[in-house]
Amino acid sequence: MTLKLHNTLTKTTEDFTPLSDQKVTLYTCGPTVYNYLHVGNWAAYIYWDTLVRTLLANGYSVERVMNITDVGHLVSDEDAGEDKVQTGAKREGKTAWEIAEFYSKNFIDGMEKLGLIAPEFVTKATDFIHEQLELVRNLKNKGFTYQIDDGIYFDTSKFPTYANFAGLDLAAQKAGARVEFNDQKRQPSDFALWKFSPPDEQRDMEWNTPADLLEGDAPHKGFPGWHLECSAMAMSILGETIDIHAGGIDHIPVHHTNEIAQSESASGKKFANVWIHNNHLKVNGTKISKSLDNGYTLDDLEQKGFNLLDYRMFILQGHYSNEGNFTFDNLEAAKNRLKNWRNFAALRHQTHDTLVDDGDKTGTDKTVLLLAASQAIVEALNDNLDTPAVLAIVDDAFSKLENLTTDVIHQHGLNQLIDTIDETLGLQLKQTTPDILDTQKQMILERQLVRHNKNWVRSDEIRDELLANGIALKDTSGSTIWQYA
Ligand code: AMP
Ligand code: ZN
Repeated sequence: MTLKLHNTLTKTTEDFTPLSDQKVTLYTCGPTVYNYLHVGNWAAYIYWDTLVRTLLANGYSVERVMNITDVGHLVSDEDAGEDKVQTGAKREGKTAWEIAEFYSKNFIDGMEKLGLIAPEFVTKATDFIHEQLELVRNLKNKGFTYQIDDGIYFDTSKFPTYANFAGLDLAAQKAGARVEFNDQKRQPSDFALWKFSPPDEQRDMEWNTPADLLEGDAPHKGFPGWHLECSAMAMSILGETIDIHAGGIDHIPVHHTNEIAQSESASGKKFANVWIHNNHLKVNGTKISKSLDNGYTLDDLEQKGFNLLDYRMFILQGHYSNEGNFTFDNLEAAKNRLKNWRNFAALRHQTHDTLVDDGDKTGTDKTVLLLAASQAIVEALNDNLDTPAVLAIVDDAFSKLENLTTDVIHQHGLNQLIDTIDETLGLQLKQTTPDILDTQKQMILERQLVRHNKNWVRSDEIRDELLANGIALKDTSGSTIWQYA
């Protein structure tokens, strides 16, 4: 089955066909590094990690760029207000450079802890000033820009399809425009490509505006507008047309609409063939907001005793295009599910490749079941990244192993299923399910013997000692299996 993705551009779920047979170019909008990310922000990066893993499972290689916004993202999406990173600097009595470095590192550390595959390129906006200025120059030379007091703007009326991507009602925008934002703009939808540093504010991050980009003699220090970095990085690294561009649904009406306008005006080519957007996560049914203080961070989850893979499992339980709801009860449920899966993964230490012939071929049947589940996982992912369906497939496959004796479970099939789960969902089942010690295995054998001799006291002693070391024993009809307690 070929991979199908829902494309915001065409508003349909369609077969994915990359430009090249082997390599997929992918751009995912990254974080603005002015604070710790909350559970909602992290959800997006888990969804796009699933996208990457699905592409890899389909035999593609992936060339992915993710930006780190360390400059230019203003408090208001309408090119007004303070730079978010500069706000963080004031809050913490540091420079914008220090704030950006600290929270970038925190973000990269979080990605590692969540087991997210590192993009081939993680690029900071401040490292791409030259490319961004080149893009402004290109757009200026083609007549798409104009200069006003506070910067160089993109004239959206020059890009006739501007409203199409998000289905914007530009006439209504004009009628409802609040003049206090900027009455020099020609249209409310026009956006800053390059902002001039405010005369009354000392910015930590600013660059000379090249004279050829300026109208008039006055020199200006300036900094890039937020949308510009994504177009500049995507096109300079991946090419003028990329396969997939991903981001949050909040990006559709402004950020991505503007990326399309400036990229396509500069190159004369389609910017991205597929646009994919994740819905938002709520917390206890409410929007995540500073005032409610409900933007839990990864540290918060760890401090409450959760592992970050529990959180990853929680996110995978929802579909990227649906609104999610984070509660600690839901996280607890995900944690239990993961624990259950780990105990099935631990069965591989207790099974063999040669099966006992139980007459009715139960063992062979289970092998087929495990291999079929591996295939079904990739098929469900190919159906627009349907992770809830994937989890149901795994639950179902594991539940069929319940109460079987270990000598009819095929180790190879089980190993393959666990590998597929790890490769596609990144839940690290193999890494987190080590075998028990040989001495502990000996104890289990001894217990079988003493049970045979009806020495229940010794049998209980052994069970308790193993339990004290985190190993629980489960007696099934014909055998005893161990699990993580
Ligand atoms: P921000 O720092 O607000 O620019 O957000 C960074 C990224 O997180 C953006 O891609 C947003 O789409 C995404 N995002 C913000 N809030 C949520 C949420 N509650 N659920 C999912 N994604 C979110
Ligand atoms: Zn972006």
